[in-house]
Amino acid sequence: MRIDKLLANMGYGSRKDVKKILKSGKVSVNGVTVKEGKCHVNPDVDAVEVMGEEVDYRKFIYIMMNKPPGVISATEDMRNETVIDLLRDQDMLLKPFPVGRLDKDTEGLLLLTNDGQLAHQLLSPKKDVPKTYFAVIDSPVTEEDVEAFKNGVILDDGYRTKSGELEIIKSGTYSDIELTITEGKFHQVKRMFEAVGKKVIYLKRLSMGPLALDKNLDLGEYRELTDKEFTKLT
Ligand code: URA
Repeated sequence: MRIDKLLANMGYGSRKDVKKILKSGKVSVNGVTVKEGKCHVNPDVDAVEVMGEEVDYRKFIYIMMNKPPGVISATEDMRNETVIDLLRDQDMLLKPFPVGRLDKDTEGLLLLTNDGQLAHQLLSPKKDVPKTYFAVIDSPVTEEDVEAFKNGVILDDGYRTKSGELEIIKSGTYSDIELTITEGKFHQVKRMFEAVGKKVIYLKRLSMGPLALDKNLDLGEYRELTDKEFTKLT
């Protein structure tokens, strides 16, 4: 990769800014000053330093976000704010994208990465990655619902869902529940409750595979995964 591209990718400014930094003799590769942007470096092997500080070059970024309602889980949208719009400039450089979708009104755990292979593994229907949601339902949730979800319910398009684990936290005029499913059909949680005649009025994702939403993240906040979280995920 050209060194000017590498430095621009790492947040050292535009190509023009990077050109200036290079010209000023502040950049070295393996201890040798480099002034030409076209100089090629191998980020896996070469030690690149700017003003004596090593550039921490990396290819991938892994972000945990507490998605707020009203924001779209996509990289671009003509009318609405997207989860990418919530990122700081330096975190957009590696072009992360959301792993799967949460509805506009759904909150909670969303992973963003530019690691297509990991995203594929987490989303592949064959991998049965469990996802746990907390929901508020508009009516009493019963043991019959627990049993129905365990056996799979028939959605409005005739599809029978795989077994889901429904836990009733509080049943009443409004019920609090947790539901773990291993699929990710469009509006799946809402449609599963519709299948038993009930309506989801609040939905939040709590976990995805081994990754649990960090309780310290407020709505709209995010952070990079810790090494421990990353290791569990791969
Ligand atoms: N199921 C839904 O209905 N909506 C979501 O956002 C996620 C799962």
